[in-house]
Amino acid sequence: MNAVNFGYMISVARGIDLDRNDLTSARELGDEMPEFRACIACGGCTATCTAGNLTSFNFRMVQTLVRRGEYAGAYREMNKCMLCGKCRLVCPRGINTRGVVMLIKRKLGDY
Ligand code: SF4
Ligand code: SF4
Repeated sequence: MNAVNFGYMISVARGIDLDRNDLTSARELGDEMPEFRACIACGGCTATCTAGNLTSFNFRMVQTLVRRGEYAGAYREMNKCMLCGKCRLVCPRGINTRGVVMLIKRKLGDY
């Protein structure tokens, strides 16, 4: 099938082929904690994050990568979280963000 010309291109190096990612663990995370799926990636958590102000930690980015099935490094990144809870106070979706951190660490420790 010929590609549709939209007048722009997505760089191959930045392209993500979701069909190649194994989303099993991401689905299991959502099944265990449905609010994990409620994130709209607004970035409020990252903007207020204590650890993010001191390190390269980006909670929104890690959550997004996990939902895409890109788990490598998620456990290590989540270890930067101090569990202070500030992100939970600002989340417009009322997500138990600390719970999400603990869940990702528990489920993705092997990656
Ligand atoms: S503040 Fe809540 S909805 Fe926004 S990116 Fe963070 S977890 Fe997702
Ligand atoms: S609980 Fe973790 S992710 Fe949330 S603001 Fe505190 S350090 Fe950042």
